[in-house]
Amino acid sequence: MTRLVMKFGGSSVADIDRIRNVARHVKREADAGNDVAVVVSAMAGATNSLVELCRAAAPIHDQREYDAVVASGEQVTSGLLAIVLQDMGVAARSWQGWQLPVVTTDAHAAARILDINAEEPIRGFARKEVAVVAGFQGIHPESGRVATLGRGGSDTSAVAMAAALRADRCDIYTDVDGVYTTDPRVVPKARRLDRIAFEEMLEMASLGAKVMQVRSIELGMVHNVRIFVRSSFDRPEDIDPDRTPPGTLICDESEIMEQEVVTGIAFSKDEAQISIRSVADKPGVAAAIFGPLAEANINVDMIVQNVSADGKTTDLTFTVTAADFERAKVTIAEARDEIGYERLDTASDVTKISVIGIGMRSHAGVAARAFRALADRAINIRAITTSEIKFSLLIDAAFTELAVRTLHSLYGLDKT
Ligand code: ADP
Ligand code: ASP
Ligand code: MG
Repeated sequence: MTRLVMKFGGSSVADIDRIRNVARHVKREADAGNDVAVVVSAMAGATNSLVELCRAAAPIHDQREYDAVVASGEQVTSGLLAIVLQDMGVAARSWQGWQLPVVTTDAHAAARILDINAEEPIRGFARKEVAVVAGFQGIHPESGRVATLGRGGSDTSAVAMAAALRADRCDIYTDVDGVYTTDPRVVPKARRLDRIAFEEMLEMASLGAKVMQVRSIELGMVHNVRIFVRSSFDRPEDIDPDRTPPGTLICDESEIMEQEVVTGIAFSKDEAQISIRSVADKPGVAAAIFGPLAEANINVDMIVQNVSADGKTTDLTFTVTAADFERAKVTIAEARDEIGYERLDTASDVTKISVIGIGMRSHAGVAARAFRALADRAINIRAITTSEIKFSLLIDAAFTELAVRTLHSLYGLDKT
């Protein structure tokens, strides 16, 4: 007997027909004698509408009340799936975050899970009852308030649930049949990966591949949860229980036999660039720039600074997320006297493209090939950062698709 967590994302529960299909997948696993906990997202588009309602009510609002509103999406789907399962003759019970409880921090709208009490679902397993858990939410016990985990947070609910239940597997059912070398909606030649290492998936997710929430991978890594990404659109009747279905296993790197140099390419349009012109080239200037940004809770990503030719002034460029762009500009302008600079040049129509692969640890010259290939297509690189298993390039957003496709072919990732 196996203990399983099955997670279904928004497009998989978009309407009652899809929920019925999900229920058939759940029934298939329950009928096979497995203990099953299901984690569901809100119906496709539901969370966006709830976020929009909050914004319409007041552009700047109390995050505790935002959470009260947006957590309702998952409450609906967990109840609906329990109803449909019962209607199919499968014993099922829904659980909201506060009911288990899923204990979180009080960082409303971006809370972290601290603990999950899985006693009730486990008691239910003894009665052959499926637990249907509302994803994306928990409770901050001191205040007794509902908290949500940030967009895409149901992935994290699922992996945390799998860790709490010591589940044998955490199956993430979504609208693609696995993790691809890059977003298959942008590059039709993208190839499905049979396996990807936690570290690589962590980079892919944090650099823009939205297939899994970053925090879910961190948790999977710490608790060594086997995460399998697969399609919810397969018909349950077509699945052969004796064969591994198409999908991607996210696992420890030791489980991956043949490691390519480059595993995947991620990109994010959610970036903005700020260049500070003619700052003094002397100690303390970087502190004068990045200190106020840190105080304003603005995360700086790429940083490029030139060495001045005359030893006097230089330019300094950095990137922030699009969401922080306006605040970052204001923060730098307010610190102008302290920093001392001639002017600010900014751009928000930029994309960060990242090339990821554990094999880069042992191969030199991987990034150099990308610079040449992009130059051949007259794509200008605005900023570069590198680390052990990835490098990132900032380019004009208009060239995003061309650049991703170029690099995808360059590193031999195209499907044959
Ligand atoms: P869900 O609603 O099931 O949580 P998401 O929309 O959050 O699904 O994530 C799935 C989407 O992630 C896919 O539709 C795909 O467009 C996108 N995606 C981005 N990068 C990748 C990648 N490397 N592999 C697979 N999907 C990716
Ligand atoms: N419904 C939430 C969102 O859209 C959580 C999730 O789908 O994972 O962000
Ligand atoms: Mg998602």
